[in-house]
Amino acid sequence: MTNKWNRSEIKQRQKYVMERLKTENLSEKEKELLESSLLSYYNMLNMGISKSKYYIKNIVDKISHNKLKLQEENKYDALAHKLLFEQNNYLDEDYLQFLLDLANNIAKNIPEDISFKTINVSNKDLIETSKNFYKSLGDSNIYDKALMILDNPQRLYILNNKIPLMYETSGININDYVFAEAYCLAVKNNNLMDYQALNHEVMHGIDFYSNKKLYSENYYGFHEVPTYMIDYLFIDYLEKQGFDKNEIQKLKEQKDNYLQKLARFTLNEIRIDMLRNKDDLKKDKSLTAQNVKKTLSNESLKQLLEIESGVISFGLYYQFKQNKDIGLSHLKKFMQSNISPNERPNFEKYGLSDEVLLSLSKEIGIYSNNVNYNIETKDTLNNKSR
Ligand SMILES: [Zn+2]
Repeated sequence: MTNKWNRSEIKQRQKYVMERLKTENLSEKEKELLESSLLSYYNMLNMGISKSKYYIKNIVDKISHNKLKLQEENKYDALAHKLLFEQNNYLDEDYLQFLLDLANNIAKNIPEDISFKTINVSNKDLIETSKNFYKSLGDSNIYDKALMILDNPQRLYILNNKIPLMYETSGININDYVFAEAYCLAVKNNNLMDYQALNHEVMHGIDFYSNKKLYSENYYGFHEVPTYMIDYLFIDYLEKQGFDKNEIQKLKEQKDNYLQKLARFTLNEIRIDMLRNKDDLKKDKSLTAQNVKKTLSNESLKQLLEIESGVISFGLYYQFKQNKDIGLSHLKKFMQSNISPNERPNFEKYGLSDEVLLSLSKEIGIYSNNVNYNIETKDTLNNKSR
């Protein structure tokens, strides 16, 4: 059986949810569940699944200079914006300054993209490697959830060769809140990165099966914590399995570079948005929270939170390396909990206070150097997590 989402099943569910949405007196929460699923179905049914369909749409877009952007598309853009960005997560100057400090500690100019050696990768290899990895963690809770995706070809879509998607991606995870199902998509490029990409999307699924986090009940922006932690562990696992050392080293560098690039890129974007703001004639254009908050876009904020997520995941990874049980129990607790949108996110209960995160952020980049982690922070991490 090929690994492919079942379009007719998705269409059926879409129909069902559309009908349910017509019901009167839906509670806010019920409505949010339904709308979240509806958005997921729309995304799944319209995402680079049929090559010809994509091209046709694209040509139409080009001829009409986007005027013909389908009404339907606009509707779903608005819905996505409503669900993701109109929740008003707590953000004060203090927290924003902390996020900027983290980004500043990490930001680096990374020159070139890493290119991987082409190898033959079969779907079976990808799935088996990921299965063995999740088994090796030694936690049946996580493993069982991994199998719900890895053993179900209709939940794990493996695309052979890159086809033009809406945007460049190596994978995506889409969740159905109503039917409590995680759908993963991994794009196969025939190199070692394919293994990591698929394994990463499966982890998003495990996270969803641990707790369906509703946008209104959860601080938006920390969904990469479990996946980024698992990326580190997975790369280490591949190394132990004897995969090509050179290629493993590239995965490690890519892992470090990504966060460094994201931090640099995000700070640049924030600066550009500040300079563009003509209403603000103040001369002080330094990147302080007070200056930044006036022009901070949702996208930049989301990226700042992703940077914090990267640092948290690095901390969890090191906890795991020091003490597997503590690392795993923090990871599971993280996946099961909501992060309240009404207060400043605080990860002290995972041994990761702001202070620890700031000191960890200065260490981002050492993973690919294969050096031992600095002992001072390591001790802080261990003491705090007890
Ligand atoms: Zn991800």
